[in-house]
Amino acid sequence: MIIFIPPKRPGFRVCYICGREFGSQSLAIHEPKCLEKWHIENDKLPKHLRRAEPAKPQALIGGSNDVKAVNEAAYQSAQAQLLPCVHCGRTFLPDRLLVHQRSCRPKDASRSEI
Ligand SMILES: [Zn+2]
Ligand SMILES: [Zn+2]
Repeated sequence: MIIFIPPKRPGFRVCYICGREFGSQSLAIHEPKCLEKWHIENDKLPKHLRRAEPAKPQALIGGSNDVKAVNEAAYQSAQAQLLPCVHCGRTFLPDRLLVHQRSCRPKDASRSEI
């Protein structure tokens, strides 16, 4: 269940790793730090939750002027980093998923709309 949420603020760029929005200048600074953080967090996860390093979408490498298309590609990439809860099917970043699953009970799934 992937729900695409378009960026709310025009002119902002989406980080392809965490899916957050930044000004284009800030994103250039943020991206390498975000990837570094991603590796640190990924290494802390239990083996079955570890993911392959996010690949930079082609649209971002090409330096396309179509901000909307670039942001969409970045969003899709960030969404692919999310993991679904085995109980309710909602998607989370892995560290959030571990926190969430402490309080999510399997019986909730029967009442879920998802
Ligand atoms: Zn990021
Ligand atoms: Zn859940």
